[in-house]
Amino acid sequence: MSSFRQQMEDEAPKGFKLPPPARLRHYGLTAEQYRELWGDGFCPICLKPFGPGPRTACIDHDHRTWEVRGVLDTSCNYTLGYMHDNADWFQRAANYLLHPPTELWTPRPRLEDAPPRQGD
Ligand SMILES: [Zn+2]
Repeated sequence: MSSFRQQMEDEAPKGFKLPPPARLRHYGLTAEQYRELWGDGFCPICLKPFGPGPRTACIDHDHRTWEVRGVLDTSCNYTLGYMHDNADWFQRAANYLLHPPTELWTPRPRLEDAPPRQGD
């Protein structure tokens, strides 16, 4: 006879694994809520499947309110933290990537065209 945890993992898409009970309690989540947030197993930001290493599923929370927002892969979760969960910074970062300050320069400087450094 399988446990509730094993049954939930068996019925979920491949790769689903419940966090330890203490971790779920820490965030105030039930196993069912975590399963719902995990969805089909893809990070909602980068759209890559959860997996081992940097794509491990993490419970993301708002660092001001401590409210759970969802499940992200490790890389995207860290990135939110590096940017202090600041949506304005992310919007400016996206705008920067779409329109870098050098976009109107012709030609645009390229790293591979840089002169060799002293000692290279
Ligand atoms: Zn991601």
